[in-house]
Amino acid sequence: MSIDLNSLLRPHIAKLQPYTSARDEYSGKEGVFLDANENPFGSITEQDFNRYPDPYQQALKEEIARIKGVRPTQIFLGNGSDEAIDLLYRAFCNPGKDNVILLPPTYGMYEVSANINDVEIRKVPLTADFQLQPEKILAAADPHSKILFICSPNNPSANKVKREDVLRLVREFKGLVVVDEAYIDFSDELSFTTELDNYPNLLVMQTFSKAWGLAALRLGMAFASEEIIRILNKIKAPYNISGLTQETVLTAIRNKDKVDQMIRDILDEREFLKAELEKLPFVQKIHPSHANFLLVKIPHANQVYDDLIGEKVIVRNRAKVLLCEDCLRITVGTREENERLLNALRKVCA
Ligand SMILES: *Cc1c(COP(=O)(O)O)cnc(C)c1O
Repeated sequence: MSIDLNSLLRPHIAKLQPYTSARDEYSGKEGVFLDANENPFGSITEQDFNRYPDPYQQALKEEIARIKGVRPTQIFLGNGSDEAIDLLYRAFCNPGKDNVILLPPTYGMYEVSANINDVEIRKVPLTADFQLQPEKILAAADPHSKILFICSPNNPSANKVKREDVLRLVREFKGLVVVDEAYIDFSDELSFTTELDNYPNLLVMQTFSKAWGLAALRLGMAFASEEIIRILNKIKAPYNISGLTQETVLTAIRNKDKVDQMIRDILDEREFLKAELEKLPFVQKIHPSHANFLLVKIPHANQVYDDLIGEKVIVRNRAKVLLCEDCLRITVGTREENERLLNALRKVCA
């Protein structure tokens, strides 16, 4: 498929002359640095943070490229995945003119970010078992449809969508297809990063917030064609990833074995929690999960949610969400936390 990215891009972004930082103009490591108005004496803190960080996070991207099997030039790093989502709107969607296609029930930020950017939303619901409807999605699109957001494994339904449906949409949708893989580490699904070289309109998002246990650092990844990455780099804030985050994640990647172990532990706990929930007579349905949470149908979910809070157990109430009637979204915890949830459920649903 040949897609002309330049015709998708907003014209003023195509013409934009980006800000050049001190670290853009001189990126060498040696010398007396009197170019960025930094404090030469160091920082007020024990650790020094007085120098601006690498604006393009080269060292970190090399490590990420190695573990993800992509090239460093195919990576954009953002202050959480949410930064990438927002930048995509700003780069491709003309407010009041273009539209995006969302597939509810799904992650809320695609919609909020569209609203912030005054971009029309076209919704094509998933099927009752949370699969894509490619025919309807393509029918909903017009020449102003710039981005299609697919979340797989999907939040809040926890399932993965059919790979063939995603590939068909990447081939036939005449805009950007974003596949949000925030939960891929908990799934047996092959990442769509393996398809990047085949499709210049494909963008895959992943995050350090879930499996890696680094939500507070705020580091999201977007993988795409070099052309798309160049566009995101051009419009991002110059130093969008802090030096502390870059260093910490660089060290974290060297301990990847520990992450793999944590993922196995979470998957074991997911099985335990599912098995125990199945024993509870009031649990109507546990949707199949490829993520670190379970979508669970319980009659009177709103009441159960409130009662669980009374027991100091907090889950996510999804009862009002399309296709998730009477559903609670329960993150897999430690064994102790899962036991607390189960005991609280037995008490409030008795
Ligand atoms: C949690 C989550 C993210 C991660 O967002 P960050 O901003 O990287 O923390 C992205 N997409 C989905 C669907 C999520 O559930």
